[in-house]
Amino acid sequence: MKTVDTLLVVGLGLIGGSFAAAVKSAGACRQVYGYDLDKASLEEAKALGIIDHGCQSLAEGLAAADVIMLAVPMLAMKPVLEELVQCSLDGSLGKKVITDAGSSKRALLDAALEVFGEMPDYLVPGHPIAGSEKSGVGAAKANLFQAHDVILTPLENTDALALETVKMLWESCGAVVTDMDLYHHDEVLAKTSHLPHFLAFSLVDTLAGNPDNQDIFRFAAGGFRDFTRIAGSDPIMWHDVALGNNQAVLEALDEFTEGLQVLRQAIIEKDSQSLLGIFSRAQSARQHFS
Ligand code: NAD
Repeated sequence: MKTVDTLLVVGLGLIGGSFAAAVKSAGACRQVYGYDLDKASLEEAKALGIIDHGCQSLAEGLAAADVIMLAVPMLAMKPVLEELVQCSLDGSLGKKVITDAGSSKRALLDAALEVFGEMPDYLVPGHPIAGSEKSGVGAAKANLFQAHDVILTPLENTDALALETVKMLWESCGAVVTDMDLYHHDEVLAKTSHLPHFLAFSLVDTLAGNPDNQDIFRFAAGGFRDFTRIAGSDPIMWHDVALGNNQAVLEALDEFTEGLQVLRQAIIEKDSQSLLGIFSRAQSARQHFS
């Protein structure tokens, strides 16, 4: 396995912390540096042995790094890229590989276009299809990505060596790496990940906001708990996803709303055939994936 000398992880939360821990334990780099705006997260990452060195500034990390992983919330990607540019007025940034773990690839592309004027060939957009409703470095696990998909969305000008390096790092975490068109990624994830999160948030918020519903959480059964587990996810992350993948999320919400209206109408009309049709098709589709 080829290895990297110094990996810098920016944003030592669930994803950045898990990536640092996994790459470190796989021995895919000589040393892992970490940087986080939150000094407590930086200290905790160091204490947990997830990183070898906690950087006091992004400039310090940049000077040492060969590969930089951005694992900050989506809307923090642009300020971090801006700061990286400011720290590397000698042009050294162009010799590093940069990748990210953000949930919307269009948002990263837009941020990069605003900062660089074009997508740099050494910036490889990526997204691990793994995570949880927990956040912060305390929730990080070295095996988080084991046997999970990671989608990379390289553009035509993406440097082949940079792509190979990022792929190698994810594979060292035990992930299964797939390339996908950047826009297609956002459409797929809007439906499979973003929409279910927004439905869970909206369901819990709607029910919790009604004083007549005081008893619902007390008597919540397994189905409610399963469906709403992800409403315990980090509000900042999902705020950023809603804005960062705005267009694809709205399309997914519209498609879902249409389906919900059909269900509602079938209930109004006591239309057993339609209801059984919807439930049977959904049951059969659901049984085809684990
Ligand atoms: P998290 O809240 O656990 O961690 C984010 C970390 O980034 C925090 O420690 C925070 O202090 C730090 N941070 C914020 N702004 C910063 C800045 N400007 N500079 C340096 N550090 C900064 O979040 P997470 O769940 O690890 O998510 C990180 C990224 O991964 C997000 O872009 C998210 O969309 C993506 N992602 C999350 C999941 C998931 O399930 N949580 C899954 C896949 C991808």
